[in-house]
Amino acid sequence: MKKSVASLGWIFQNRKMFWDASTSQEILDEVHRGRDTAILPLGAIEQHGAHLVTGYDSWIAKRIATDLSKKVKAWVLPSFEFGTSDHHRGFHGTLTLRESTVMAMMQDLMQSLCESEIKRLILVNGHGGNYSWMRKLGNQFKGMRIVQDGDRPILFSVIRELEIEYPAAALGLHAGLFETSMALHTHTDAVRKNLMKAGLVPANPEKAWTDEEIRGFIAVGLKNSSPNGIIGDPSQASLELGRKFYDRVLERFLELVTESSYQSRSDT
Ligand SMILES: [Zn+2]
Repeated sequence: MKKSVASLGWIFQNRKMFWDASTSQEILDEVHRGRDTAILPLGAIEQHGAHLVTGYDSWIAKRIATDLSKKVKAWVLPSFEFGTSDHHRGFHGTLTLRESTVMAMMQDLMQSLCESEIKRLILVNGHGGNYSWMRKLGNQFKGMRIVQDGDRPILFSVIRELEIEYPAAALGLHAGLFETSMALHTHTDAVRKNLMKAGLVPANPEKAWTDEEIRGFIAVGLKNSSPNGIIGDPSQASLELGRKFYDRVLERFLELVTESSYQSRSDT
């Protein structure tokens, strides 16, 4: 009996964190009590080779947003599941939006958030292809602060940090050791373990891809640069590595949010 009361309490407390699981009145009351920050997970639906599900960028964004909301007084918004994935066209499963569509949707969404008196919007992005339009959104919308990593992409900077400890070629950029290990940690069912095979890797496995090479893959599309849709080598991916990689990513998001809190305080 005691247990069920406790779990009901847990459900109620956490329900308040999720925008779409709250009523209009509950949102109004909570916002006026100071929960005026909202976290928007940004994802993508795109091919991730033979071993990883198409929705993983959205799934990880949602997971990071939920974990962040345990440390920051904020709402978790329903996620923006689709992204700009033109460079993954030509593979079944990729669902992509035009940048102009995304920008229009984001503007409408931000307008609605302002009308609900949200003062700070945190973007948690799980897909490399979204950074270019995120940068165009800037850091302010009609008085609402936008906290985001478009100028210093967290996913890319964590991969660069990890290249000191782990083989750069394997870590990869898409469905490689980095992303697949995180998927094993956060959503084990997202990975078909028997199908984890290497994709495109640099000729010298100690050498990381240069920024110019990365821009090249995006420009020609993965269909042309990597026949199996993977950049990196997921074959040694593990849950243990994934936990380390994920914790590093979450830590960086927490730093971004903490930095922005200091900045808002010094702005006022
Ligand atoms: Zn991905």
